[in-house]
Amino acid sequence: MDCLFCKIVAGEIPSHKVYEDENVYAFLDIYPCAEGHTIVLPKKHFEKFTDMGEEDAATLFASVNKIAKIVGDTLELEGMNIGINNGEIAGQTVAHVHVHIIPRRAGDGEGNMHTIVELHPPTDNLAELAEKLRKSF
Ligand code: AMP
Ligand code: ZN
Repeated sequence: MDCLFCKIVAGEIPSHKVYEDENVYAFLDIYPCAEGHTIVLPKKHFEKFTDMGEEDAATLFASVNKIAKIVGDTLELEGMNIGINNGEIAGQTVAHVHVHIIPRRAGDGEGNMHTIVELHPPTDNLAELAEKLRKSF
């Protein structure tokens, strides 16, 4: 399969590996947003997070939890942003699910999740919207 991240997992393309087990592979982002920017991906190829089943997603996030703690402790971070660009429209550029762990440091001056998308839609329909979503489960 012509997938950059599958090739990294297979060792066909070099990477700065941070951690690996039977389910996940973690490495440093080549264009880091902050020092220590780490990418965690499932070894199994899925294009998007929403293509994964709940079990695979749970396994991925258990690993993200473990890796984020160790990255945070090792680099003595006060915090980090952890997130996924899910789909091209959301900014996903590599079509293999991956979770970004982006270190945050005091005084870095950067924003939070709310600064990624700032559409500020109306809020007078929140009850209706929540009901529509609840009914879909
Ligand atoms: P996304 O925009 O969420 O799809 O993230 C893809 C990420 O992969 C970007 O942050 C890139 O900097 C990173 N990236 C692309 N190619 C490589 C590579 N060969 N090694 C490490 N990171 C990469
Ligand atoms: Zn892949």
